[in-house]
Amino acid sequence: MSELNLQHLKKIYDGGVVAVHDFNIDIKDGEFIVIVGPSGCGKSTSLRMIAGLEEISEGKALLDGKDITNAASKNRDMAMVFQNYALYAHMTIYQNMAFSLMLRKVDKQEIHRKVMAVASMLNLDEQLNKKPKQLSGGQRQRVALGRALVRTPKIFLFDEPLSNLDAKLRVKMRREIKILHQKLNATMIYVTHDQIEALTLADRIVVMSMGHVQQIGTPLQIYSDPNNKFVASFVGNPPMNFFYGKISSDGNKFVCDDFSFRLDAKRKRLLSGHVNKEVILGVRPEHFVPKGDLIAKVGIVEHLGAHTLFNCTINKARAKIKFEKWLDYKENDEIEFSFNQDLICFFDKSSEERIR
Ligand code: ADP
Repeated sequence: MSELNLQHLKKIYDGGVVAVHDFNIDIKDGEFIVIVGPSGCGKSTSLRMIAGLEEISEGKALLDGKDITNAASKNRDMAMVFQNYALYAHMTIYQNMAFSLMLRKVDKQEIHRKVMAVASMLNLDEQLNKKPKQLSGGQRQRVALGRALVRTPKIFLFDEPLSNLDAKLRVKMRREIKILHQKLNATMIYVTHDQIEALTLADRIVVMSMGHVQQIGTPLQIYSDPNNKFVASFVGNPPMNFFYGKISSDGNKFVCDDFSFRLDAKRKRLLSGHVNKEVILGVRPEHFVPKGDLIAKVGIVEHLGAHTLFNCTINKARAKIKFEKWLDYKENDEIEFSFNQDLICFFDKSSEERIR
């Protein structure tokens, strides 16, 4: 079993920079957690506090109920895979994978058995006598993974492990990590700035911004039910469209400089506390309906295979609209559209929190 509970974790660096405020989560045994957010939001600091590489300034960390807040890194039974692989250049691949077990004085035969099993699982059997520089980037990253795997730790930690690989290899390794997780059923915590990695890998995603956890949820929850404008804008590609406007004084309409539309009964109820107040309308590109009494003018058209992305203007407002490819609009065409009101989001203008 390997459950991790983080309670009010906080990190204050020397000089007073608060890198992480009040991080709380209960991670279940076997769960794949991805911490995602833009550069500098506190992802690595959070992971490093979990690993024991960075002191926890406030709060508590419990591993299987045992307080590890102040435990040394080597006593936490976690293995970390780094972005830069951190392989030993002068050692062979075999020695790199065996090294941590040798340090732990594991029996030689046992080391051999483990290294061979992991090498076979990662397709590295043929590479064991080579040095890291003789391997490709993908193979090196696999060795870094292998080094963590031989230890069978309670928890695997990944710090942007794929960011040095080219796009194609990244997709391949992403799949391999996912398969590995399914095979091992191990608890994994993975840090990335890449929302696609987060959506494809995670059981649950932790979205961070400026040291604060913005939302924790399944990929589907994060994508379709964002807590605030930050989460809505960070996840999804092409990103959600935002329109700044207000709710009309009779409560019946959303009105902005470029267009207005009548709210359906459900939206009217939802927004009844915001009559005459400023709100932000959020619409994902796929939540436009090609029928209705609003008009968008088509600019650049991008064919994406099954879908087409239309870069449009609604009067002066810009909008990215995604339709199935058979809707064959061309530049300067006018699209009559409406919004799929069940799927659009409204945010309070000042707090940027979702109106629920
Ligand atoms: P991320 O991994 O999301 O890019 P980090 O956790 O590395 O973000 O950094 C979070 C914040 O903490 C940033 O503002 C960064 O500048 C600051 N920071 C990181 N490491 C240190 C450090 N050793 N000393 C002081 N500030 C740091």
